[in-house]
Amino acid sequence: MIAGADAWRARDLRVLWHPCTQMREHPDVLPLVPIERGEGTWLIGRDGKRYLDAVSSWWTNLFGHAEPRIAGAIATQAGTLEQVILAGFSHQPAVELAEKLLAIAPREHSVNGEGRAPLAKVFYADNGSAGVEVALKMAFHWFRNRDETRRTKFVALENGYHGETIGALSVGDIPLYRRVYAPLLAEALFAPSPDAYLAQPGESPAQCAQRAADALRELLEQHAGEVCALILEPRVQCAGGMRMHDPLYLRRVRELCDAHGVLLIADEIAVGFGRTGTMFACEQSGIQPDLLCLSKGLTGGFLPLAAVLATQAIYDGFLDDSRERAFLHSHSYTGNPLACAAALASLAIFDSDDVLARNRITAAKMAVHAQAIASLPHVADARQAGMIVAFELTKHGDKRTPFDAASRIGLHAYRAALEQGVVLRPLGDVLYWMPPYCIDDEQLDLLARVTQSAILEATA
Ligand code: PMP
Repeated sequence: MIAGADAWRARDLRVLWHPCTQMREHPDVLPLVPIERGEGTWLIGRDGKRYLDAVSSWWTNLFGHAEPRIAGAIATQAGTLEQVILAGFSHQPAVELAEKLLAIAPREHSVNGEGRAPLAKVFYADNGSAGVEVALKMAFHWFRNRDETRRTKFVALENGYHGETIGALSVGDIPLYRRVYAPLLAEALFAPSPDAYLAQPGESPAQCAQRAADALRELLEQHAGEVCALILEPRVQCAGGMRMHDPLYLRRVRELCDAHGVLLIADEIAVGFGRTGTMFACEQSGIQPDLLCLSKGLTGGFLPLAAVLATQAIYDGFLDDSRERAFLHSHSYTGNPLACAAALASLAIFDSDDVLARNRITAAKMAVHAQAIASLPHVADARQAGMIVAFELTKHGDKRTPFDAASRIGLHAYRAALEQGVVLRPLGDVLYWMPPYCIDDEQLDLLARVTQSAILEATA
């Protein structure tokens, strides 16, 4: 690295406190990379070095960095209306985006053709965790408004993740993030994860999902009448190590929630907008949640925005003469016009570029590359859901013996890949690809080559 980058790092470390980082590890254990600009799948450092962004900048970016159509839409909107209070006021991007989101939201069609009433209202927030807070509070408050005051508990899944704010953390189950704050957290009930990696010998992913659903049934029976909502990440538990489950699970969850009068919150903050192959992961199970949380890719990765989609029945439960029965939640930047304009431009690209069809071709190529890596000695599992591929590294390449946490294999792989110009940001010892959808053949080759060499170097 040239002196300019070093000077920049020193300047950064004098004033910045970085997210999700033990700051003491900067810069010796954990490199700090100053980025100057982005271009498609590339991040370009201040020293001119190019990095392939294989994690889409925390799973936000969809069509590449500085995508001109989204950048243009934001610029145009900024010259018209940059921000306005959304209480008592309205604006075109917020309304148009709500209409579009409701039009593409997952729909459930029953056998006799009579579908469930569709998601009908959109409540905005300004980041994923805030969106989760909205959904949790709405579910809880909805039952209060119906005088069902015993329904105060949330059910969540083991190994799930929903964000870092106190409410979102309460329904998360990643010890590293949760443990220290445990005394502050709201009570939640955790059901076993349907994670196919945890399948017993001889058990298929669907059987594993069914076993988890049976355990959930028992939990809901034990707590009959006490649970207001169940929250989960459909199809892939992302922060939990890109652990994937069979779509059967969500069908069973939908049935169980209906049977027990529990609201179903689908957190598609990470998996929404085509990541798992379909626009929304719920589609693969043919179900529709009562509340759907969206963020990250919502704006194509340009600006923070979250949307919580709710059914008409939930919305109607807040209509009353009393203000206290209203949903008084707000954020200053709720429904920010710039973010909504970015989201509209992003959704337009899905149509104009036939993104989901193109992704199917890219995903097939990713599968071929993944196969070669799956046969490396320390790779215990290679799995894929659409545009997400993950490799689980263990000591002997079997599921029984994880690496010692202290050996920080993932960190070694991260540094090795970074050195070779690829951003892999492992979750523990799980390496994964979640690239921008514009990744091309040459970049896929590079990604696979560097992943392979990073694994070999880290596990040597
Ligand atoms: N839910 C899921 C499934 C997530 O993956 C994340 C972020 N990784 C969040 C919620 C929280 O979103 P944010 O980081 O924008 O608060």
